[in-house]
Amino acid sequence: MIFGFGESSVDEVLVVPELPRAGASKLPVSSSSTRYGGQVATCMAACAALGMPAAYLGPVGDDEHGRALLDVLRTRGVDVSRTIVRPAPTRRAVIMVEETTGDRLVFWERDPGLDVPVEELPPGFLDVATILHVDAVDERASMHLAALARAQGRTVTCDIDRVTPQAWEFLANVTHPILASGLPSALTRIDDVRTSLSTMRTRHAGVLCVTLGDRGAAALVGDDYVEVPAFTVRAVDTTGAGDVFRAGFILGLVKAWPIEETLRFANAAAAASCTRAGAIDGVPPLEDVWALIHSLGSP
Ligand code: ADP
Repeated sequence: MIFGFGESSVDEVLVVPELPRAGASKLPVSSSSTRYGGQVATCMAACAALGMPAAYLGPVGDDEHGRALLDVLRTRGVDVSRTIVRPAPTRRAVIMVEETTGDRLVFWERDPGLDVPVEELPPGFLDVATILHVDAVDERASMHLAALARAQGRTVTCDIDRVTPQAWEFLANVTHPILASGLPSALTRIDDVRTSLSTMRTRHAGVLCVTLGDRGAAALVGDDYVEVPAFTVRAVDTTGAGDVFRAGFILGLVKAWPIEETLRFANAAAAASCTRAGAIDGVPPLEDVWALIHSLGSP
């Protein structure tokens, strides 16, 4: 079973004709809705949609949104029997989505009470996990779980989008880092993606993957650099694209596909999510991913 520990969120989504530019003071909204997401909750919903047994470990808040989030995940086939509920409000975000491009701007608010004390994460917590997926929001708890999973010989994937003083220590316990666009450069201070991944190789021996937005994704396997372009779609909302990409990548690990095939599938899953609104709402069914792969839009 795929276990995910990290962010879940209630998202106030505002679809806007264009994202705010400097100096803007009043802007119209085309439509608004309340949706559920968060990077790890969305990734687990996507794992389930792609046919993998997936469990979301939390955290969610002990409020109405936390309960609604669990219902949404349950409906999508995600196991929430181990989800940690914390005495704090669920993380919330306001997401502006530009209707012509699907580009987004996220404002978020998170109560530190959502952090999980490591004593609440005993070794048996990961019992039936084959793969653990973590983010670095509650860095201490994620690092604790990643170290535990690694010591137990499990595969660990991650979603890291910022550099912290513990970043390298964190990555040491992740067998397959899937880094946000710009992160290898931020870690190594080298702009070129290929060179920055090669430089990371001196400190990490595993497969190093990076998402590249509408340019696709890249990976370094041993000394081999592979870059696979994105699928061409009409993006309506790119929220959750990175999370769905990671689910596609995890399916590639489960199926032991070659890296090119894994990146291509993950790009297709992510592109299919860009054609749908919302994070969890935007998770595509598996048949849509295969349809895109077999379509003329394929790179
Ligand atoms: P995040 O969603 O975490 O910010 P990226 O923007 O790098 O991550 O996007 C993740 C993946 O989503 C990319 O690797 C790519 O496969 C896909 N993707 C993102 N934007 C587009 C787009 N406009 N068209 C097609 N695919 C996209």
